[in-house]
Amino acid sequence: MNPLGVHALVWVGDWSDKSAQFAIESTKEVGFDLIELALLDPSATDIAMTKQLLDDNGLGVTASLGLDDDADVSSEDPAVVARGRDRLAAALEVAHGIGATHLCGVLYSALRKYPHPASELSRQNSVAAMAWLAEQCSAAGVKLSLEVVNRYETNIANTAEEMLDFIDQTGADIGVHLDSYHMNIEENGLVEPVQQTGSRLGYVHIGESHRGYLGTGNVDFDSLFGAIRDSDYDGPVTFESFSSAVVHPSLSNTLAVWRNLWEDGRDLATHAHAFMAERLAPR
Ligand code: MN
Repeated sequence: MNPLGVHALVWVGDWSDKSAQFAIESTKEVGFDLIELALLDPSATDIAMTKQLLDDNGLGVTASLGLDDDADVSSEDPAVVARGRDRLAAALEVAHGIGATHLCGVLYSALRKYPHPASELSRQNSVAAMAWLAEQCSAAGVKLSLEVVNRYETNIANTAEEMLDFIDQTGADIGVHLDSYHMNIEENGLVEPVQQTGSRLGYVHIGESHRGYLGTGNVDFDSLFGAIRDSDYDGPVTFESFSSAVVHPSLSNTLAVWRNLWEDGRDLATHAHAFMAERLAPR
């Protein structure tokens, strides 16, 4: 069965020593194989402390982030693109330092609503940056995947098919990162994107349509998990959920987390682990 993960934002909004210890120990106690850390501000993660806690608890780790306007590799402004590459390099350094197996998320543009389609120059800058990042990741031994997100969070690729085309343009070995929350908004269904992506599936986020408790929204999880079971994908399947009960200084606002969908992260995570394990178990 796939390794099961949980996003750190289920536990904590910052990464102080105390928060990191709570998040990592809780993730292990609930039975997950890995925790996914948000590296939006790579300098906020103490590499040695994090690595020690992960080792002490025998827990795996992956890393994700989205870029912001000031570091958007799809910008038409070369200075902004350069800052974006610096941000990605810093994130990869942290990911590699803590022993992350995967780097994923919206690494190819800012994570935001764009007021226009991506220009040809924006696409070229993003493609070039991802080809460059793929080389860095390969050298570091970290699997790179790009997350397909909905139209309100990027203008580069909103469906698996669009992301496959985009990755083809990079000419690099980059995985597709699918997320049920975004698929539920943009795709025709949840089976076809998994089949289309095939062996190029690199990472999976499991989120409900309102990003709260799994099974209480509109996502057709039986179809999605069935497609994953039927595929050869053996990589991480990570639960992602957000509530105003746990606030990250930037990510919560970027993702428009205005609503309190849960209070008790442990109950939420315990439920999610059982929900995913039951549906991914070989049959
Ligand atoms: Mn996601």
